[in-house]
Amino acid sequence: AALVLGLTACSGGGAGSDEGDGGGDAAPEDMTVGVAMPTQTYERWLNDGASVEEGLEELGYTADLQFADDDIPTQQQQIDQMITQEYDALIIASIDGSALTSQLDAAAAADIPVISYDRLLTNSENVDFYVTFDNFAVGQEQARALLYGLGVLDENFEEAEDAPEETLNVELFAGSLDDNNARFFWDGAMDVLEPYIEDGTLAVPSGQTTIEQAATQRWEQETAQERMENLITSDYRGSDAELDGVLSPADPLSRGIINALRSAGMGDDIESGLPIVTGQDAEIASVSLIAEGVQHSTIFKDTRNLADEAVNAADAFLNGEEPEANDTESYDNGSAVIPSYLLPVEMILEENYEEILVESDFYTEEQVESGQ
Ligand code: BGC
Repeated sequence: AALVLGLTACSGGGAGSDEGDGGGDAAPEDMTVGVAMPTQTYERWLNDGASVEEGLEELGYTADLQFADDDIPTQQQQIDQMITQEYDALIIASIDGSALTSQLDAAAAADIPVISYDRLLTNSENVDFYVTFDNFAVGQEQARALLYGLGVLDENFEEAEDAPEETLNVELFAGSLDDNNARFFWDGAMDVLEPYIEDGTLAVPSGQTTIEQAATQRWEQETAQERMENLITSDYRGSDAELDGVLSPADPLSRGIINALRSAGMGDDIESGLPIVTGQDAEIASVSLIAEGVQHSTIFKDTRNLADEAVNAADAFLNGEEPEANDTESYDNGSAVIPSYLLPVEMILEENYEEILVESDFYTEEQVESGQ
Protein backbone atom coordinates (compact mmCIF):
# COMPACT_ATOMS: atom_id res chain seq x y z
CA ALA A 1 0.00 0.00 0.00
CA ALA A 2 1.18 3.42 -0.82
CA LEU A 3 2.15 6.14 1.47
CA VAL A 4 -0.44 8.80 1.03
CA LEU A 5 0.99 12.08 0.02
CA GLY A 6 0.51 14.73 2.67
CA LEU A 7 -3.15 14.79 1.95
CA THR A 8 -3.64 18.45 1.29
CA ALA A 9 -2.09 17.81 -2.08
CA CYS A 10 -3.68 17.17 -5.44
CA SER A 11 -6.81 18.70 -6.76
CA GLY A 12 -9.07 15.72 -6.43
CA GLY A 13 -11.97 18.10 -6.35
CA GLY A 14 -11.80 19.02 -10.00
CA ALA A 15 -11.89 22.52 -11.36
CA GLY A 16 -10.81 25.37 -9.25
CA SER A 17 -8.84 23.75 -6.50
CA ASP A 18 -5.48 24.78 -7.81
CA GLU A 19 -4.30 26.25 -4.57
CA GLY A 20 -3.19 22.75 -3.57
CA ASP A 21 0.32 22.93 -2.34
CA GLY A 22 1.74 20.36 -4.60
CA GLY A 23 2.42 16.69 -4.44
CA GLY A 24 4.11 16.93 -1.10
CA ASP A 25 7.37 15.27 -0.43
CA ALA A 26 6.51 11.72 -1.34
CA ALA A 27 8.72 10.16 -4.00
CA PRO A 28 7.23 8.14 -6.90
CA GLU A 29 8.65 5.04 -5.25
CA ASP A 30 6.20 5.59 -2.41
CA MET A 31 3.18 6.10 -4.60
CA THR A 32 0.73 3.75 -6.26
CA VAL A 33 -1.50 4.54 -9.20
CA GLY A 34 -4.61 2.44 -9.75
CA VAL A 35 -5.34 1.63 -13.38
CA ALA A 36 -8.86 0.36 -14.08
CA MET A 37 -9.50 -1.07 -17.55
CA PRO A 38 -12.84 -2.40 -18.82
CA THR A 39 -12.11 -5.78 -20.38
CA GLN A 40 -9.51 -8.11 -21.80
CA THR A 41 -11.70 -9.19 -24.71
CA TYR A 42 -10.61 -6.25 -26.85
CA GLU A 43 -6.99 -6.30 -27.85
CA ARG A 44 -6.66 -2.56 -27.39
CA TRP A 45 -7.39 -2.53 -23.66
CA LEU A 46 -4.71 -5.14 -23.08
CA ASN A 47 -2.24 -2.92 -24.92
CA ASP A 48 -3.48 0.18 -23.13
CA GLY A 49 -3.15 -1.50 -19.74
CA ALA A 50 0.34 -2.76 -20.45
CA SER A 51 1.54 0.61 -21.79
CA VAL A 52 0.14 2.60 -18.87
CA GLU A 53 1.65 0.17 -16.38
CA GLU A 54 5.01 0.33 -18.08
CA GLY A 55 4.97 4.13 -18.29
CA LEU A 56 4.15 4.51 -14.61
CA GLU A 57 6.83 2.04 -13.58
CA GLU A 58 9.41 3.84 -15.70
CA LEU A 59 8.78 6.94 -13.62
CA GLY A 60 9.18 4.93 -10.45
CA TYR A 61 5.52 4.59 -9.46
CA THR A 62 3.88 1.34 -8.53
CA ALA A 63 0.97 0.50 -10.83
CA ASP A 64 -1.99 -1.68 -9.92
CA LEU A 65 -3.63 -2.73 -13.19
CA GLN A 66 -7.12 -4.27 -13.02
CA PHE A 67 -9.48 -5.49 -15.75
CA ALA A 68 -13.18 -5.81 -15.01
CA ASP A 69 -14.52 -8.37 -17.53
CA ASP A 70 -16.98 -5.75 -18.78
CA ASP A 71 -18.88 -6.22 -15.52
CA ILE A 72 -19.90 -2.95 -13.86
CA PRO A 73 -20.03 -4.19 -10.22
CA THR A 74 -16.56 -5.71 -10.66
CA GLN A 75 -15.18 -2.39 -11.82
CA GLN A 76 -16.91 -0.52 -8.99
CA GLN A 77 -15.38 -2.89 -6.45
CA GLN A 78 -11.94 -2.63 -7.97
CA ILE A 79 -12.03 1.15 -7.73
CA ASP A 80 -13.53 1.10 -4.23
CA GLN A 81 -10.57 -0.99 -3.15
CA MET A 82 -8.07 1.31 -4.79
CA ILE A 83 -9.57 4.16 -2.77
CA THR A 84 -9.65 2.16 0.45
CA GLN A 85 -6.00 1.33 -0.06
CA GLU A 86 -5.28 5.03 -0.38
CA TYR A 87 -3.77 4.93 -3.82
CA ASP A 88 -2.37 8.23 -4.95
CA ALA A 89 -4.05 8.62 -8.34
CA LEU A 90 -6.54 6.73 -10.49
CA ILE A 91 -6.59 6.20 -14.24
CA ILE A 92 -9.99 4.85 -15.28
CA ALA A 93 -11.33 3.52 -18.57
CA SER A 94 -14.94 2.89 -17.60
CA ILE A 95 -17.40 0.27 -18.76
CA ASP A 96 -20.43 2.46 -18.14
CA GLY A 97 -19.22 6.04 -17.84
CA SER A 98 -22.06 7.03 -15.52
CA ALA A 99 -21.82 4.11 -13.10
CA LEU A 100 -18.89 5.31 -11.04
CA THR A 101 -20.20 8.51 -9.47
CA SER A 102 -19.99 7.24 -5.90
CA GLN A 103 -16.43 6.05 -6.48
CA LEU A 104 -15.57 9.47 -7.89
CA ASP A 105 -17.10 11.19 -4.87
CA ALA A 106 -15.02 8.99 -2.58
CA ALA A 107 -11.85 9.67 -4.56
CA ALA A 108 -12.45 13.42 -4.36
CA ALA A 109 -13.10 13.20 -0.63
CA ALA A 110 -9.73 11.45 -0.27
CA ASP A 111 -7.99 13.97 -2.56
CA ILE A 112 -7.12 11.30 -5.10
CA PRO A 113 -6.90 12.78 -8.59
CA VAL A 114 -8.87 10.92 -11.25
CA ILE A 115 -7.92 10.72 -14.90
CA SER A 116 -10.61 9.57 -17.26
CA TYR A 117 -8.97 7.31 -19.82
CA ASP A 118 -10.22 7.15 -23.42
CA ARG A 119 -13.90 7.06 -22.32
CA LEU A 120 -15.39 10.01 -20.49
CA LEU A 121 -16.57 9.51 -16.91
CA THR A 122 -19.93 11.24 -16.80
CA ASN A 123 -22.34 12.91 -14.38
CA SER A 124 -19.69 13.92 -11.91
CA GLU A 125 -17.60 17.00 -11.24
CA ASN A 126 -14.96 14.81 -9.67
CA VAL A 127 -13.06 14.06 -12.83
CA ASP A 128 -9.78 15.96 -12.97
CA PHE A 129 -8.61 15.32 -16.49
CA TYR A 130 -9.53 13.41 -19.63
CA VAL A 131 -7.10 11.84 -22.10
CA THR A 132 -8.56 10.51 -25.30
CA PHE A 133 -8.47 10.61 -29.08
CA ASP A 134 -10.45 12.97 -31.24
CA ASN A 135 -13.53 10.77 -31.10
CA PHE A 136 -15.66 12.90 -33.41
CA ALA A 137 -12.88 12.68 -35.99
CA VAL A 138 -12.88 8.87 -35.60
CA GLY A 139 -16.50 8.81 -36.78
CA GLN A 140 -15.83 11.24 -39.61
CA GLU A 141 -12.90 9.17 -40.82
CA GLN A 142 -14.96 5.97 -40.65
CA ALA A 143 -17.62 7.60 -42.80
CA ARG A 144 -15.07 8.97 -45.29
CA ALA A 145 -13.47 5.54 -45.55
CA LEU A 146 -16.88 4.04 -46.27
CA LEU A 147 -17.59 6.62 -48.99
CA TYR A 148 -14.16 6.05 -50.48
CA GLY A 149 -14.67 2.29 -50.51
CA LEU A 150 -18.01 2.80 -52.22
CA GLY A 151 -16.42 4.98 -54.89
CA VAL A 152 -18.34 8.10 -53.88
CA LEU A 153 -15.12 9.83 -52.83
CA ASP A 154 -11.83 9.58 -54.69
CA GLU A 155 -8.41 8.89 -53.22
CA ASN A 156 -8.14 12.54 -52.17
CA PHE A 157 -11.46 12.18 -50.35
CA GLU A 158 -13.14 14.54 -52.75
CA GLU A 159 -16.27 13.82 -54.79
CA ALA A 160 -15.27 11.14 -57.29
CA GLU A 161 -15.84 12.06 -60.93
CA ASP A 162 -16.78 8.50 -61.77
CA ALA A 163 -18.99 7.95 -58.72
CA PRO A 164 -21.61 5.22 -59.16
CA GLU A 165 -24.91 6.57 -60.43
CA GLU A 166 -27.21 4.16 -58.68
CA THR A 167 -28.14 4.54 -55.02
CA LEU A 168 -25.83 2.57 -52.76
CA ASN A 169 -27.23 0.54 -49.89
CA VAL A 170 -25.56 0.72 -46.51
CA GLU A 171 -26.31 -0.42 -42.97
CA LEU A 172 -25.14 1.39 -39.87
CA PHE A 173 -23.74 0.04 -36.61
CA ALA A 174 -22.95 1.95 -33.41
CA GLY A 175 -21.16 1.07 -30.19
CA SER A 176 -22.45 0.67 -26.64
CA LEU A 177 -24.75 3.48 -25.54
CA ASP A 178 -23.29 3.60 -22.02
CA ASP A 179 -19.91 4.53 -23.56
CA ASN A 180 -19.81 8.26 -24.20
CA ASN A 181 -17.48 7.64 -27.14
CA ALA A 182 -20.16 5.72 -29.01
CA ARG A 183 -22.14 8.95 -29.51
CA PHE A 184 -19.10 10.87 -30.65
CA PHE A 185 -18.25 8.19 -33.21
CA TRP A 186 -21.85 8.11 -34.41
CA ASP A 187 -22.22 11.89 -34.57
CA GLY A 188 -18.94 12.21 -36.45
CA ALA A 189 -19.99 9.55 -38.94
CA MET A 190 -23.46 11.01 -39.44
CA ASP A 191 -21.99 14.46 -39.89
CA VAL A 192 -20.34 13.10 -43.04
CA LEU A 193 -22.99 10.57 -44.17
CA GLU A 194 -26.22 12.49 -43.65
CA PRO A 195 -25.95 14.73 -46.72
CA TYR A 196 -25.42 11.63 -48.88
CA ILE A 197 -28.43 9.92 -47.34
CA GLU A 198 -30.51 13.04 -47.87
CA ASP A 199 -29.57 13.44 -51.53
CA GLY A 200 -30.15 9.76 -52.29
CA THR A 201 -26.53 8.79 -52.91
CA LEU A 202 -26.94 6.36 -50.02
CA ALA A 203 -29.96 4.46 -48.75
CA VAL A 204 -30.39 2.47 -45.55
CA PRO A 205 -32.85 -0.26 -46.60
CA SER A 206 -33.52 -1.44 -43.01
CA GLY A 207 -34.60 2.07 -42.07
CA GLN A 208 -32.53 1.71 -38.88
CA THR A 209 -30.90 5.11 -38.80
CA THR A 210 -30.90 6.10 -35.15
CA ILE A 211 -28.06 5.36 -32.78
CA GLU A 212 -30.47 3.45 -30.53
CA GLN A 213 -31.39 1.13 -33.41
CA ALA A 214 -27.78 0.73 -34.47
CA ALA A 215 -26.25 0.30 -31.00
CA THR A 216 -24.25 -2.76 -29.92
CA GLN A 217 -24.54 -3.31 -26.17
CA ARG A 218 -21.10 -3.71 -24.50
CA TRP A 219 -19.47 -3.66 -27.93
CA GLU A 220 -19.97 -7.43 -28.27
CA GLN A 221 -18.93 -9.11 -31.48
CA GLU A 222 -21.70 -11.74 -31.40
CA THR A 223 -24.33 -9.07 -30.92
CA ALA A 224 -23.17 -7.27 -34.07
CA GLN A 225 -22.96 -10.53 -35.99
CA GLU A 226 -26.52 -11.44 -34.99
CA ARG A 227 -27.87 -8.04 -35.89
CA MET A 228 -26.18 -8.27 -39.30
CA GLU A 229 -27.70 -11.73 -39.82
CA ASN A 230 -31.12 -10.38 -38.94
CA LEU A 231 -30.74 -7.42 -41.28
CA ILE A 232 -29.74 -9.76 -44.10
CA THR A 233 -32.80 -11.91 -43.49
CA SER A 234 -35.25 -9.06 -43.21
CA ASP A 235 -33.97 -6.67 -45.86
CA TYR A 236 -31.73 -8.40 -48.38
CA ARG A 237 -32.47 -12.09 -48.68
CA GLY A 238 -34.98 -12.69 -51.43
CA SER A 239 -35.07 -9.01 -52.31
CA ASP A 240 -33.46 -7.05 -55.13
CA ALA A 241 -31.60 -4.86 -52.69
CA GLU A 242 -27.87 -5.47 -52.68
CA LEU A 243 -25.84 -4.42 -49.69
CA ASP A 244 -22.86 -2.25 -50.63
CA GLY A 245 -21.38 -1.14 -47.34
CA VAL A 246 -21.53 -1.29 -43.56
CA LEU A 247 -20.47 1.40 -41.12
CA SER A 248 -18.89 -0.49 -38.23
CA PRO A 249 -17.42 1.40 -35.28
CA ALA A 250 -14.90 -1.19 -34.01
CA ASP A 251 -12.84 -4.05 -35.43
CA PRO A 252 -14.32 -6.95 -33.43
CA LEU A 253 -17.78 -5.82 -34.55
CA SER A 254 -16.48 -5.55 -38.11
CA ARG A 255 -15.27 -9.13 -38.00
CA GLY A 256 -18.64 -10.31 -36.67
CA ILE A 257 -20.35 -8.40 -39.47
CA ILE A 258 -17.97 -9.88 -42.05
CA ASN A 259 -18.70 -13.39 -40.72
CA ALA A 260 -22.40 -12.79 -41.27
CA LEU A 261 -21.89 -11.37 -44.77
CA ARG A 262 -19.64 -14.24 -45.80
CA SER A 263 -22.01 -16.90 -44.45
CA ALA A 264 -24.81 -15.28 -46.41
CA GLY A 265 -22.79 -15.72 -49.60
CA MET A 266 -22.16 -12.02 -50.10
CA GLY A 267 -18.56 -12.62 -51.21
CA ASP A 268 -15.32 -13.68 -49.60
CA ASP A 269 -13.43 -10.49 -50.21
CA ILE A 270 -14.11 -7.06 -51.62
CA GLU A 271 -13.08 -8.16 -55.08
CA SER A 272 -15.63 -10.96 -55.08
CA GLY A 273 -18.40 -8.66 -53.93
CA LEU A 274 -18.08 -8.47 -50.16
CA PRO A 275 -19.58 -5.16 -48.98
CA ILE A 276 -17.24 -2.40 -47.77
CA VAL A 277 -16.86 -2.69 -43.98
CA THR A 278 -15.17 -0.03 -41.81
CA GLY A 279 -13.61 -0.48 -38.37
CA GLN A 280 -11.61 1.00 -35.53
CA ASP A 281 -8.54 0.19 -33.43
CA ALA A 282 -6.33 -1.44 -36.06
CA GLU A 283 -6.50 -4.77 -34.25
CA ILE A 284 -4.05 -7.21 -35.72
CA ALA A 285 -6.75 -9.63 -36.94
CA SER A 286 -8.45 -6.79 -38.80
CA VAL A 287 -5.25 -5.32 -40.23
CA SER A 288 -4.57 -8.78 -41.58
CA LEU A 289 -8.03 -8.82 -43.20
CA ILE A 290 -7.35 -5.38 -44.66
CA ALA A 291 -4.09 -6.65 -46.15
CA GLU A 292 -6.09 -9.51 -47.70
CA GLY A 293 -8.71 -7.18 -49.15
CA VAL A 294 -11.50 -8.42 -46.88
CA GLN A 295 -12.14 -5.66 -44.33
CA HIS A 296 -11.92 -2.34 -46.10
CA SER A 297 -10.58 0.01 -43.43
CA THR A 298 -9.96 0.71 -39.79
CA ILE A 299 -8.95 3.71 -37.71
CA PHE A 300 -5.57 3.66 -36.02
CA LYS A 301 -5.33 5.25 -32.61
CA ASP A 302 -1.83 4.94 -31.24
CA THR A 303 -2.57 3.76 -27.72
CA ARG A 304 1.12 4.08 -26.81
CA ASN A 305 0.68 7.85 -27.04
CA LEU A 306 -2.55 7.78 -25.07
CA ALA A 307 -0.85 5.81 -22.32
CA ASP A 308 1.95 8.38 -22.27
CA GLU A 309 -0.53 11.22 -21.90
CA ALA A 310 -2.28 9.45 -19.04
CA VAL A 311 1.01 8.79 -17.28
CA ASN A 312 2.09 12.41 -17.79
CA ALA A 313 -1.20 13.66 -16.37
CA ALA A 314 -0.90 11.42 -13.31
CA ASP A 315 2.69 12.52 -12.83
CA ALA A 316 1.69 16.19 -13.08
CA PHE A 317 -1.01 15.82 -10.43
CA LEU A 318 1.32 13.88 -8.17
CA ASN A 319 3.81 16.74 -8.43
CA GLY A 320 1.20 19.26 -7.49
CA GLU A 321 0.80 20.55 -11.05
CA GLU A 322 -2.03 20.60 -13.56
CA PRO A 323 -1.59 18.61 -16.77
CA GLU A 324 -1.85 20.63 -19.94
CA ALA A 325 -5.13 20.37 -21.84
CA ASN A 326 -5.48 20.96 -25.58
CA ASP A 327 -9.28 21.00 -25.50
CA THR A 328 -11.38 22.67 -22.84
CA GLU A 329 -14.79 22.69 -24.49
CA SER A 330 -15.70 19.45 -26.26
CA TYR A 331 -16.24 17.14 -23.34
CA ASP A 332 -19.08 18.21 -21.09
CA ASN A 333 -19.80 15.22 -18.89
CA GLY A 334 -23.18 16.46 -17.72
CA SER A 335 -21.78 18.03 -14.55
CA ALA A 336 -18.68 19.84 -15.76
CA VAL A 337 -16.61 20.41 -18.85
CA ILE A 338 -13.57 18.24 -18.33
CA PRO A 339 -10.19 19.58 -19.47
CA SER A 340 -9.00 17.15 -22.09
CA TYR A 341 -6.04 16.10 -24.10
CA LEU A 342 -7.09 14.80 -27.53
CA LEU A 343 -4.82 12.77 -29.78
CA PRO A 344 -5.13 12.50 -33.56
CA VAL A 345 -6.36 9.43 -35.45
CA GLU A 346 -5.47 7.91 -38.80
CA MET A 347 -7.45 6.02 -41.41
CA ILE A 348 -5.93 2.67 -42.40
CA LEU A 349 -6.51 1.12 -45.81
CA GLU A 350 -4.91 -1.64 -47.83
CA GLU A 351 -2.70 0.96 -49.50
CA ASN A 352 -1.26 2.56 -46.35
CA TYR A 353 -1.15 -0.04 -43.56
CA GLU A 354 2.49 -0.81 -44.26
CA GLU A 355 3.57 2.78 -44.04
CA ILE A 356 1.54 3.65 -40.96
CA LEU A 357 1.59 0.44 -38.96
CA VAL A 358 4.59 -1.60 -40.04
CA GLU A 359 7.13 1.14 -40.67
CA SER A 360 6.24 2.69 -37.30
CA ASP A 361 6.90 -0.66 -35.60
CA PHE A 362 3.37 -0.97 -34.34
CA TYR A 363 3.18 -4.36 -36.06
CA THR A 364 5.67 -6.51 -37.89
CA GLU A 365 4.95 -7.78 -41.40
CA GLU A 366 4.84 -11.32 -39.93
CA GLN A 367 2.10 -10.30 -37.52
CA VAL A 368 0.07 -8.84 -40.37
CA GLU A 369 0.53 -12.02 -42.36
CA SER A 370 -0.47 -14.34 -39.54
CA GLY A 371 -3.12 -12.04 -38.07
CA GLN A 372 -1.72 -12.53 -34.57
C1 BGC B 1 -12.92 2.92 -27.65
C2 BGC B 1 -12.68 2.16 -28.91
C3 BGC B 1 -13.07 0.71 -28.72
C4 BGC B 1 -14.43 0.58 -28.07
C5 BGC B 1 -14.75 -0.85 -27.70
C6 BGC B 1 -14.33 2.74 -27.20
O1 BGC B 1 -14.58 3.47 -26.06
O2 BGC B 1 -12.62 4.28 -27.85
O3 BGC B 1 -11.33 2.25 -29.26
O4 BGC B 1 -13.11 0.04 -29.95
O5 BGC B 1 -14.53 1.38 -26.94
O6 BGC B 1 -13.86 -1.34 -26.74
